[in-house]
Amino acid sequence: MSKIVDLSHVIEPGKTGRKFALEMIGADSVNPNVVRLENQWYIMHNISMVSHIGTHIEAPYHLLKDQDDLADLPLEKLMGPAVILDFKGYPKKSAIQIEHAKKAADKAGGIRKGDIVFANLGYAPFYGTDEYSGTPYFLPETIAWLADQGMKMMGVDATGVEVPGSEQHVSHHALFDRGIPLIENLNNLNGLSKPRVQVFAFPIAVRGLESFPVRVVALED
Ligand SMILES: [Zn+2]
Repeated sequence: MSKIVDLSHVIEPGKTGRKFALEMIGADSVNPNVVRLENQWYIMHNISMVSHIGTHIEAPYHLLKDQDDLADLPLEKLMGPAVILDFKGYPKKSAIQIEHAKKAADKAGGIRKGDIVFANLGYAPFYGTDEYSGTPYFLPETIAWLADQGMKMMGVDATGVEVPGSEQHVSHHALFDRGIPLIENLNNLNGLSKPRVQVFAFPIAVRGLESFPVRVVALED
């Protein structure tokens, strides 16, 4: 029997740094054909939100006008074998270099072609605090090396992977130019007992959208 591990943060409307607002409406206000008795709890919502909130996935369309949006993302990239690379203990705001990635990959038993690669920076417990801005980041050459090993999707327990101050978004381009989606703000990687798991991470398919919250689930044997 597999163990199910939730790798997503719960979104608490009104308590997130970015906009995620729920407006409760009666179901009858959306569909005039339904009957809602007086005071009956039969609700729907209007949602107003930033697309990059909580644990979310970014498609190449975020930075590349002609590349995959959420509706185009191939499902095979969003599920399958995942390797968890341990980057805990690196100095605050330091650069993850190729040698660091090699070391972490060796420790995890290697990266295989078609792997999802999740980087455990050890910061998920600090999500929502000032401490969270101290995560290390990934140099574009490190991402290129990971891609060369066969990485099809990347995920981090950080607000991003980007080189601080890079106006060209070099690290994002290292991913998106290769068609690799990125999951930000992963949670609970420490809750996994093995470096290899199965992962499922499906955002809703919206045409013209570059990002959306995603429920990331790992299965451990
Ligand atoms: Zn984002």
